[in-house]
Amino acid sequence: MAELTTDIRAIRGIGEARAAALGKLGIFTLGDLISWFPRRYEDRTEIRRIAELVPGETACVAAMVTAPPTLSRIRKGLELIKLRAVDETGVLDVTFFNQTWLKNNLRQGETYLFYGKAEGNLLRRQMAGPVVEPEGRREFTGRIVPIYPLTAGVSQLILSRSVRQGLDACTDILPDVLPDGVRREHQLCRIGFAYENIHFPQNARALELARRRLAFEELFLFTIGLRRLRSRRSVLPVAPCKEVDLTPFFARLPFQLTGAQRRCIGEALGDMKSGRPMNRLCQGDVGSGKTMVAAACVYFMVKNGHQAALMAPTEILARQHFEGLRPLLEGLGVRCALLTGSARQKERRELLQRLEEGETDFVIGTHALLTEDVRWANLGLVVTDEQHRFGVAQRSALSAKGDSPHMLVMSATPIPRTLALILYGDLDVSVLDELPPGRQSIDTFAVPGSYHQRVYRFIRAQAAQGRQSYVVCPMVEEDGEAPDERKAVTEYARKLRAGPLSELRVAVLHGRMKPREKDAVMAAFAAHETDVLVSTTVIEVGVDVPNATLMVVENAERFGLSQLHQLRGRVGRGTHKSYCILISDNTGEETRARLRVMTRTSDGFKIAEEDLRLRGPGDFFGLRQHGLPGLKVADLGCDTKLLQEAQAAADQLLAADPELRTCPAAAARVEELFARRADTLN
Ligand code: ADP
Ligand code: MG
Repeated sequence: MAELTTDIRAIRGIGEARAAALGKLGIFTLGDLISWFPRRYEDRTEIRRIAELVPGETACVAAMVTAPPTLSRIRKGLELIKLRAVDETGVLDVTFFNQTWLKNNLRQGETYLFYGKAEGNLLRRQMAGPVVEPEGRREFTGRIVPIYPLTAGVSQLILSRSVRQGLDACTDILPDVLPDGVRREHQLCRIGFAYENIHFPQNARALELARRRLAFEELFLFTIGLRRLRSRRSVLPVAPCKEVDLTPFFARLPFQLTGAQRRCIGEALGDMKSGRPMNRLCQGDVGSGKTMVAAACVYFMVKNGHQAALMAPTEILARQHFEGLRPLLEGLGVRCALLTGSARQKERRELLQRLEEGETDFVIGTHALLTEDVRWANLGLVVTDEQHRFGVAQRSALSAKGDSPHMLVMSATPIPRTLALILYGDLDVSVLDELPPGRQSIDTFAVPGSYHQRVYRFIRAQAAQGRQSYVVCPMVEEDGEAPDERKAVTEYARKLRAGPLSELRVAVLHGRMKPREKDAVMAAFAAHETDVLVSTTVIEVGVDVPNATLMVVENAERFGLSQLHQLRGRVGRGTHKSYCILISDNTGEETRARLRVMTRTSDGFKIAEEDLRLRGPGDFFGLRQHGLPGLKVADLGCDTKLLQEAQAAADQLLAADPELRTCPAAAARVEELFARRADTLN
């Protein structure tokens, strides 16, 4: 008897060749196969009559073939099959290219279902290359048809036939991981019905039931997994930190901390004094002042006699943090160092030695902090900045270097709170929901490409007032190849220097530059040795140049709203009035709606919600990037209510039965889903 782990080659009807093709999609076992869910569906239920076909619309039609199909060779490699079919309302001419086998399969006098785009006029309807099958079959026509994600060599036909065979092979063995009580209480269908109808829905209602059931199951298991990770984590005791007087730290700051900053610092310090490792997310919009929260924690930890590390996603950012924090912290007796990939060998060796001997208290760096040869005397705190750029695995690789150091994660990706709970379910969350006083709103405009000359004039006007501008450069894909960012940026900058911005000092920044070059460019910009920085999105995170007042984004339609928000956050950081100009020639309704959101609000949380609503969460959250199991069916954006239901059910179950003794199937699935993650999430 088949099991979910059975190799697909053992399924009737799946041979070596097909198995190899499916293998390209990562489908190896029966379980993989039936969990390869459709990406979307096409509702081909409605069958029209020929006279009802509307040119330009895709539809299904039943018609009888009136004469044997004819085959003609138009030229080498191009064979055309033509046939005529009728119903009581009209005539349909159908053509197929290079599908020669149809010549003998479509018979005169028989009725077939054709599904395709209707063309022609009212007198002569036509379809080119429709899906066709005998009337009674109803496999790809006359029903809701699944559309699967594919790869080269695997067609919809192959996939759906394989899935059909897979489902037939396991009707009796699908384990229902949901406890019966939960299933009934939340009115969820049985697992067999769910799998059958997620693939081959009998009707729209059945599809909805199937989807709801599978989404619930995912969220339920996901919640259980996260809850268990969290409880596992909290039993590891560490020595509680002692109280530290932060007055000297506050006294050196050039400003008063906001209430939100003080609250976050308080929450973090509370964690570190608790005797359990801190695992806290500090979430705050761009410019909310996360760095100072980190600095306070670092000061606290160092005064507790431990080392601290701050990990940034780019060298530019690491250097900037270093330059900003060193004057503040060294004055307070904290010995600071910078470690990036581009440090010279000798420098690096000396630095590592000081770290190991405990002569350096605080290191700021990039991924370079994760390499094997970095050893610490007594690492007590790890702060990761802009954590969406780091996976959970990297975070934890760093934490593994200490004796369960405290972790503070800082993220500028504002996400709705329920989603934060899912994504960062293993973390406690502090929200910086207040901007430092005196921040000006950034006037944002969405304009078409025809405004370029005016935009350049505006850049010159800003420069004339002593201000600086960023220009995020267009990236043009060439014949489907990945865009060459170096070329794009350099050429765009040359154009600007040669023409509209010839009087200004234009610098260039892109991701392929050596770290040293990047640093030099950034340093020059920060020192106002250049006026305009033409860049890719490498400046998206964190960079802080208060004199920059204008952000111009070319091809703005290419960016997600949250990314645009990040880019816009690069300006308006000083006291000067700041602007953001989003250039796009895309006139599509959706693009316009998205850009309109940007011009109307500067609230990162609102923008994230809109982004989610307009774009769907598919690639928005990147669960896998966070090191968590991905969700295949559930949609974190739309299924918020379902998420709450599933979370409640999971909590109820865990309260009654923390070890999941009553539902071993669920326990096994959670184990499997989180197997590779368990150690990385702590
Ligand atoms: P982000 O949350 O985006 O990382 P930063 O920590 O870079 O924000 O802070 C943005 C700017 O605001 C910096 O120039 C910082 O010095 C300044 N800043 C931080 N806190 C305050 C405050 N309480 N009052 C005034 N300015 C502040
Ligand atoms: Mg920051």
